[in-house]
Amino acid sequence: MPLQQTPRLLSIWTSRLPNTAKSNTNGSLSGLSMAVKDVFWTTELPTTAASKMLRDFHPEEDAECVSLARAAGACLIGKTNCDEFGMGSSNRFSHFGPVLHPLSSDRLAGGSSGGSAAAVALNQSSFALSTDTGGSTRLPASYCGVVGLKPSYGLISRYGLIPYAESLDCVGIMAKSVHTVNRVFDVLSQYDEKDPTSESTELRKSAREAAQSVRQSTDTWRIGLPEELFTSKPSDALSEVLDTLIRKGATDGKRVELYQVSLPTTTLALNAYYVIASAEASSSLARYDGMRYGYRSESGSIHDTREEGFGEEVKRRITLGNLVLSADSLDNYYLNAQRARTEIVNDFNGLFRMPNARTATDAVPDGIDVLIHPTAVSGPPLVDSHDAADYAQDLLTTPASLAGLPALNVPIGVDSQGFPQGVSVVGQWGCEQCVFGVAKELE
Ligand code: GLN
Repeated sequence: MPLQQTPRLLSIWTSRLPNTAKSNTNGSLSGLSMAVKDVFWTTELPTTAASKMLRDFHPEEDAECVSLARAAGACLIGKTNCDEFGMGSSNRFSHFGPVLHPLSSDRLAGGSSGGSAAAVALNQSSFALSTDTGGSTRLPASYCGVVGLKPSYGLISRYGLIPYAESLDCVGIMAKSVHTVNRVFDVLSQYDEKDPTSESTELRKSAREAAQSVRQSTDTWRIGLPEELFTSKPSDALSEVLDTLIRKGATDGKRVELYQVSLPTTTLALNAYYVIASAEASSSLARYDGMRYGYRSESGSIHDTREEGFGEEVKRRITLGNLVLSADSLDNYYLNAQRARTEIVNDFNGLFRMPNARTATDAVPDGIDVLIHPTAVSGPPLVDSHDAADYAQDLLTTPASLAGLPALNVPIGVDSQGFPQGVSVVGQWGCEQCVFGVAKELE
């Protein structure tokens, strides 16, 4: 098996293997090449989560999303580099080295799914699988100028995904066009009994039907611009795209209306996210003790195994997670973060004119169909910028993650320095078709 490491470390492992027994030349993804973030199990290629801890891990099965894509005809061409266990916003925290931005070696591709974004941006693959816990698909997609979807939580199976924070982890999809992301989503969005958080067929159907019935009964698209998720006034590129849309209307003949809306509790999202994600990470990473699999220190001690096997950022998250879960801090940090999460879910539910099938919350009759806001607070991070700035990059992406909502980055132009900029289209739970519908108008 020809395994090579690529110089810019977009990919950790590449393969020329044909899609052998699983290939399907008539499938809906046939003819498409697929790069897969190295946190998904793959049978022919190792799965390391970009960690020394798992550098020799060879799964015996494909992750469910990988096997569905292959069964539909997609051809796996390689595994992409990422932040270790998906922890990061810049892709500077990989055991294999950082992923550089496709346009500049002074910048990073963004994280944690930077290798997937760069592979799509450089036309190395037709689409890529990524993950999104708090922004890891949308952020690198925005920096690299590609389309990136974080689907509704529970729609795409996480079976065979190495977990980071299980109540937030989603399988992401990246491609050059909304159309391709939509095609891949249609294949992957299926109930899977192997994933206990996979939502039932009935719930998916009821969300889809509610969205369809709202769409059929109206002649408008109502788009909300949440003031808290605009850290500066809308960029010229975004204003231009929205002006054109209002003037021309949507391609389905419906009028487009813009509303300024407010999501006051989303200002709590970044802090709540880091508390919850670190708490869940410290518990899910407890399994790596070197006893049955993974890296094992020469000394054989569990302490040395974890000290040597995990990178600095992962150890920071474990320490933070242990702290917020300790008896003295539980109420102050973890329970407060969970309360904030509930308020954020309620805030979103108070805006949409589709009901939330997952939380069984009624629709707001004069509400909006989707929200639009910038995906990133600034351009791609500098290679030598300070680590602390990385956390703030998730300011605009963590609200939809905590609420479990579908959110999709669409590139809309370049910033003053020539780097891509993107906007996020966010919809009600299970209403991906509304998100795709509006995103296609922005491309
Ligand atoms: N940057 C965030 C973090 O480090 C989000 C990562 C992700 O979505 N996997 O936790």
